[in-house]
Amino acid sequence: MADSKNWLFVPSLLNFLKMELTNGKYELQNIALASLAHEFGTPAYVYDGNKIVSQLQSLKNAFSENPLKVKFAMKALSNISIVKLLCEHGAGIDAVSINEAKLALSVGVKNTDVNFTPNCVDFSEIVEGVELGLSVNLDNLSALEKFGKKYGNSYPCGIRLNPHIMAGGNYKISTGHSNSKFGISIYQLPDVMRLIDQYKIVVNGLHIHTGSEITETDVFLKMAEILFGIASDFPSLKFIDFGSGFKVAYRTEDHVTNMYDLGLKLGKSFKEFYHRYGKQLELWIEPGKYLVSEAGYLLVRVNVVKPTPSVTFVGVDSGLNHLIRPMMYDAYHEIVNISNPGGTQKIYTVVGNICETDTLGADRKLNEVREGDLLAIKNAGAYGYTMASNYNSRFRPPEILLWNGRAQLIRKRDTLDDLLRNQVIAEI
Ligand SMILES: *Cc1c(COP(=O)(O)O)cnc(C)c1O
Repeated sequence: MADSKNWLFVPSLLNFLKMELTNGKYELQNIALASLAHEFGTPAYVYDGNKIVSQLQSLKNAFSENPLKVKFAMKALSNISIVKLLCEHGAGIDAVSINEAKLALSVGVKNTDVNFTPNCVDFSEIVEGVELGLSVNLDNLSALEKFGKKYGNSYPCGIRLNPHIMAGGNYKISTGHSNSKFGISIYQLPDVMRLIDQYKIVVNGLHIHTGSEITETDVFLKMAEILFGIASDFPSLKFIDFGSGFKVAYRTEDHVTNMYDLGLKLGKSFKEFYHRYGKQLELWIEPGKYLVSEAGYLLVRVNVVKPTPSVTFVGVDSGLNHLIRPMMYDAYHEIVNISNPGGTQKIYTVVGNICETDTLGADRKLNEVREGDLLAIKNAGAYGYTMASNYNSRFRPPEILLWNGRAQLIRKRDTLDDLLRNQVIAEI
């Protein structure tokens, strides 16, 4: 394992970690994407495992001054092979449901490395988390009261706070604003303190997660200052968890979170803080997108090229059933025609085959598209497969992991049996 970690970070090999056009063929880890489509069929999700591990490593480098713990937010990509890959390289897990936690435990992740941060779940799910020995984060006063009554000081918990900072790319993915359902409002801290006193609750961590796609280091620093101000009231802390919201590039010109800058500045103020606090604390972050977004590609095949008087549609063998982010969040995912690199560029609108308006990319300049061509949809690693469905009774695609230059199937394509599995025929 040590060797595979080291060769990754030789600068000349960094190009290895993205899709490259070599001798007229698009390759990933020196494997032609067309050959993957041939072997596994389309549509298919392809993940570059070495890119994922290099993203993890870049976080460790950025925060090298601090005892950093990276908890992979597995809702972004919950395939157990990916969970295993990240955890074997030193990450823990952020699980938002007890099932995510159980998936992680099934591949040998230690229970204490699983941070359980559910929202609005029944208290029985939190009890299950305690029984499994997870690190539990509570995000409402009702759960905190029940937790105190049941466990007193016998099991520690973290508290998820809402700092009331409006941050992130758009309202739907921002979770820290004042109307957000997430976290306990910092204005309700007196209630938190009352419950802690009453039940002798041991709070071992403070947690915030303000949402997705924050590019400004200053936003994180501002949140940090708010947390540090509050933390002195909690004497038993072991960690402070800054959540995530780290932005990656979806377009080449996108602003992204400068992790190096953030690591330096947040790291510095964190250190100053724990010296004041009186003991060293762990700095936790919970990236999802940052670790896996750019490592993923959705490979699709063109079924139909359909010129109309206004636009030329390219209809592919996928759609919102496999990648819903463009329709749900207006997310931009770059699309490349990997079958015709030399073709004349034209403007197309790429759509799916679902009976629904499922535009994967509008007005895109692509090398001439012909029926049968393969397209690669980029940034498909995060919230791609995990948000996929069987809508229109179509199969969810297979998932393929490329690791050290070898392709492995890590989830099979659905079959008709999968669609029938839990259905019970009524007696009529
Ligand atoms: C979704 C989520 C994350 C990860 O967010 P990204 O934008 O994918 O990095 C982290 N923490 C919690 C609690 C989450 O719900």
